[in-house]
Amino acid sequence: MIIVIGAGLAGLTVAIALQQAGHKVTVLESAPQITYIGAGIQVSSNSSRVLRTLGVEPHIVKYCTEPVDLRMMRWKTGEVLVECPLKQPAQEEYNSPYWHIHRADFHRGLMARALEVGVTVHLDSRITKVEPDIPRLTTKAGKAYTPDLVVASDGLHSICREIVLGKKSPPNPTGQMVYRVTLPAKKLAGVPGLEEFATIPRNNHWIGPHATILSYLLEGIEQPLINFVFTCDSTMDEGVDTKLEGSEEVRERFKEWDPRLGVMLEHVQEVLKWRLFTHHELANWAHPANKVVLIGDAAHAMTPYLAQGAAMGIEDAAVLAGILAEPDFATVDKLPESLKLYENIRIKRAARVAEASISSRYFTQMSDGPDQEARDKWMLEHPGIWEQHINIRSRKEFLDELFGYDVYTVLSEALAKARKEGVDAVTAQVGTSSVSAIPAVL
Ligand SMILES: Cc1cc2nc3c(=O)[nH]c(=O)nc-3n(C[C@H](O)[C@H](O)[C@H](O)COP(=O)(O)OP(=O)(O)OC[C@H]3O[C@@H](n4cnc5c(N)ncnc54)[C@H](O)[C@@H]3O)c2cc1C
Repeated sequence: MIIVIGAGLAGLTVAIALQQAGHKVTVLESAPQITYIGAGIQVSSNSSRVLRTLGVEPHIVKYCTEPVDLRMMRWKTGEVLVECPLKQPAQEEYNSPYWHIHRADFHRGLMARALEVGVTVHLDSRITKVEPDIPRLTTKAGKAYTPDLVVASDGLHSICREIVLGKKSPPNPTGQMVYRVTLPAKKLAGVPGLEEFATIPRNNHWIGPHATILSYLLEGIEQPLINFVFTCDSTMDEGVDTKLEGSEEVRERFKEWDPRLGVMLEHVQEVLKWRLFTHHELANWAHPANKVVLIGDAAHAMTPYLAQGAAMGIEDAAVLAGILAEPDFATVDKLPESLKLYENIRIKRAARVAEASISSRYFTQMSDGPDQEARDKWMLEHPGIWEQHINIRSRKEFLDELFGYDVYTVLSEALAKARKEGVDAVTAQVGTSSVSAIPAVL
């Protein structure tokens, strides 16, 4: 029996995958009921491939939109600096769609699929004690569980991470925060200059000094929505990581930006403030006794600049469950090798994507000046997707490694190598090796 701690996006995905691999899976979630954060999420080809393989697609596809392209715009004027297609390469080159979906709809779809394949989910089951050598988990209410394996998907503030590492390992604040906003698209219907944001599915980025703004359309369960994420240096009070409040502060901070944004913000009453954290690359994700293993944000919380945090957790899920689906890796006595193989495939991949995400922050958030002017000139002269593009979101070889990453091919190659040469011979087929190859134009 396998216990997954946490019914987040990574936890539910791994639960589905493990159950389908023939294991009996129980998810223990601390929340007494599932509530949803009102925000969107991007699901790129590397993760939609996994969700489709696991049979999640029918539960979510009607709530997904497919953005035509990604645009970067100058912060003050909205001038389009670069456009690169998303929908067409996702479908034709990476063979799996790029989706935008509301988190509530995504989560509901995962939960429906988990229950459909026979996963047991217990809410109101906060784990307060973990004995990794047995392994035994005890909930706040005193109920004890003794599974064969614990998959710790308990998120950014994971209690299991400290147990796995044998030392404290809190996430690091990045110094930035976001204001998250969703509003019904119909509120912008007919508003001059804003109509296109409410009607054309795109990934719109305004890039400016120490800040960016992202907007995209969501299908929504009741009506189409627009999702906005304002990212900027943090002014959050010490000890506060999330806060719901009025829109005055975000309006004030972005009042010099593209005037269309100010008009849009007039329609917003409430914003969710959210402090951004990240993790350094961890040396291991499995506890030395090989009965507790980390997955998702518990293992590799990362900045959201590339929209890959959940995607990495979903890739983790496919790899871990894929290894534990193999009869010669699925038994309890084989866990040391199985978990080592999982680490060897996953740790470097997640770390490189996290690094790429950070480099994307500095590329998009340049202060105005000669470097920014050189960047903008170069981008204006190079629309679309190119090899060696200075913008990684437009760089062909980077996108091939990020979105073209087929976790199932990687896994089957890794399994073949592990069987022949042992798990230590398997090194990550990392993906994103091209991240540092920025041409010297800046
Ligand atoms: C602004 C922003 C935008 C983002 N955009 C994207 C995007 O577009 N695309 C993308 O791929 N990623 C994105 N991400 C990242 C993504 O949101 C996270 O990586 C993902 O939600 C993490 O999922 P998880 O399941 O690992 O953790 P979580 O979602 O944090 O789930 C952990 C679960 O464990 C439960 N739990 C915790 N402790 C216990 C306990 N002791 N006992 C029982 N249960 C427990 C929690 O209640 C929770 O349900 C974004 C992040 C941010 C901040």
